[in-house]
Amino acid sequence: MTPAETDVIPVPDPVRLTVQGGGSFPVREVYCIGRNYADHAREMGHDPDREPPFFFRKDREHLVPGGGDVPYPPATTDLHYEVELVVALGAGGAHMDTAQAEAAIWGYAAGIDLTRRDLQGQAKDMRRPWDMGKGFAGSGPVGALVPAGVAGLTEATPIRLTCDGAEVQTGTIEQMIWPVAEAIAYLSGLVALHPGDLIFTGTPAGVGPVARGQTLVAEVGGLPALTVTMT
Ligand code: MN
Repeated sequence: MTPAETDVIPVPDPVRLTVQGGGSFPVREVYCIGRNYADHAREMGHDPDREPPFFFRKDREHLVPGGGDVPYPPATTDLHYEVELVVALGAGGAHMDTAQAEAAIWGYAAGIDLTRRDLQGQAKDMRRPWDMGKGFAGSGPVGALVPAGVAGLTEATPIRLTCDGAEVQTGTIEQMIWPVAEAIAYLSGLVALHPGDLIFTGTPAGVGPVARGQTLVAEVGGLPALTVTMT
């Protein structure tokens, strides 16, 4: 008997990212690093001294591969953009060191961690989980993936976001408190990682609200730009 004959409800299609140059990347889990750029930590009222990295999650069904029109989510009047470098893993493991973590990276994409800042703020105030502030339909637009070997990322790689053409976020990858490989290695000590996992690696300063009808463009170095219009 095949699984299709025993499933008692429909199974959703896998979520896949487009790979530049051909192919697709099926997504498994989606992890996000909090406060990984010092200037953003400060703008959110925190001291960015090198405390251990921390993580939260989105569901893969929350991703918007390729961007495009994204419905403004319910239950918020303060939806914020956060431009992020998204890392895709081609290999997994637990308790990886930084060299193993680096080797596990399959590719990179530009992404936006859309955040219901009002719900996140209420959760922080009440010492409750962030889940409803961070994980909701449409909360994870991700551009096309580029294999690590051809992405050409360096420490000086710029990361920026425009809102209706105005630059609102800008920085460089080297401003990360926890470089990508270190963050992945740390995360792998908390949970086993797998091929297909994505990691949103945090946002530089300049986060702010986006309204219905506005268009965001996220750019990370030479990775394919990601354009999102809130509808
Ligand atoms: Mn973020």
